[in-house]
Amino acid sequence: MTETELRELLVELGASLFARGYSVGSAGNISVRLPDGYLMTPTNSSLGRLQADRISKLDLDWRHIGGDKPSKEVFMHRAVLTARPEAGAVVHLHSTYATAIGCLAAPGETAPIPPLTPYFVMRVGRSLPVIRYYRPGDAAMEGDIHAAAKGASAMLLANHGPVVSGKSLVDAVYAAEELEESAKLALMLRGQPARPLTGTEVDDLLQTFG
Ligand SMILES: [Zn+2]
Repeated sequence: MTETELRELLVELGASLFARGYSVGSAGNISVRLPDGYLMTPTNSSLGRLQADRISKLDLDWRHIGGDKPSKEVFMHRAVLTARPEAGAVVHLHSTYATAIGCLAAPGETAPIPPLTPYFVMRVGRSLPVIRYYRPGDAAMEGDIHAAAKGASAMLLANHGPVVSGKSLVDAVYAAEELEESAKLALMLRGQPARPLTGTEVDDLLQTFG
């Protein structure tokens, strides 16, 4: 896709996430890898009202070179995209159910959501590391995110929200949506005798679709 097409897709998907309540206010931010740098949603922007020509552009060294000033959480995106060369985009949300799981999970936990559905396993994978709480905007979390992203495509920031990557912008958005729905299921089923997928079933999915 061209940069222009990616900018338009970012506006469309941001509006869709916002309309469905995956982000509220100016929460949440999205980045996309380009051949000559990165696109990033601007600081204090609402995902519901992005403008294609005002989306921030950064060069390959993450310097701001165009559009509005990038989100203050740009370092999260840098941490994931430098750790995962195969990732083409990163979605960070404060979506309710995934954030709730991030409040219940112990920092250092690697599977706070059980593998309840094949779609969660296919989109998010086997592990979902929980990064300990940091104050929003604290760049000290970059190292933890970078280390976790080497072994996982998605993670939860404790008491904050999910950070999810994908091969493409659409893949990253779908994975963030799947993570939110799986978090909702996990909370609905908490304390009930739900049967998660077995290790063998998870292995089969990852071998077939991974
Ligand atoms: Zn955030």
